[in-house]
Amino acid sequence: MLVDLHNHTELCCHASGAMEDYVRQAIAKGISIFGFADHSPWMKQEGIKMALSYDEVPIYIERVQELQRRFSSAPDAPIKILMGMEMDFLPEDNSEALRFLKEYDFDYAIGSVHYIGTWGFDQEEQISQFETKPVRQIYEHYFGLVKELVKSGIFDIMGHLDLIKKFGYFPESGWDDIQEDVARLIGESGMVVELNTSGMDKPAQDFYPNTQFLKRLHKHGVPITLGSDSHHPEDVGRYFDRAISLLKEVGYKEIAYFEKRKRILTKI
Ligand SMILES: [Zn+2]
Ligand SMILES: [Zn+2]
Repeated sequence: MLVDLHNHTELCCHASGAMEDYVRQAIAKGISIFGFADHSPWMKQEGIKMALSYDEVPIYIERVQELQRRFSSAPDAPIKILMGMEMDFLPEDNSEALRFLKEYDFDYAIGSVHYIGTWGFDQEEQISQFETKPVRQIYEHYFGLVKELVKSGIFDIMGHLDLIKKFGYFPESGWDDIQEDVARLIGESGMVVELNTSGMDKPAQDFYPNTQFLKRLHKHGVPITLGSDSHHPEDVGRYFDRAISLLKEVGYKEIAYFEKRKRILTKI
């Protein structure tokens, strides 16, 4: 069964296309479990709107529910639509994420690191900062935040695990030890990691996480879900054929998804 749990909407203002078109594309691609996961309101960037505003959260929920009624309420519906949220991890204060998850009834929360301090390292305009420090040091800092996210226990799914490689910067001395350390910690946490296919369209030209990292996650018993991180309807399910063969090659037989924050495993 195909699952795509990471899809944005035009409400976050850096994605486009009607939500209905994302669903139609998912159906066309044979995806049976489809989840919206737009950016939570506390993702902020000076001068740019990156996320839902607090006022837009009820609108987002209403729109997802309307699509659920239209597309997935019949017993023989071709698709199940889930309501998730991609939440930025704020290492200094988790209270907002916790309050938010209590207030709204999401199916799942994807936890993501998009900032090292105030540096939006995945934004093209801020790429020059990769030249200011040894890349290994940047990786250590980034994965330090990932580890804090995992230890917080707040989120169901780890989003784009090695996003730091997006622009193709890699530590010269390698980062196998970091991968091993992070994979073991996630294995102990019970968290699910997404195989996020969007990196194929970025300078890294690879999935998040890469094959070697995925093998380590498998070794530590970490369940995997799939996400295309779509920002346009045509992105939905991108590179899923390759993702599925890779998962099988690594040894995965099941894909995880969540309903009302309860993990469900389905055969690939
Ligand atoms: Zn993200
Ligand atoms: Zn995303």
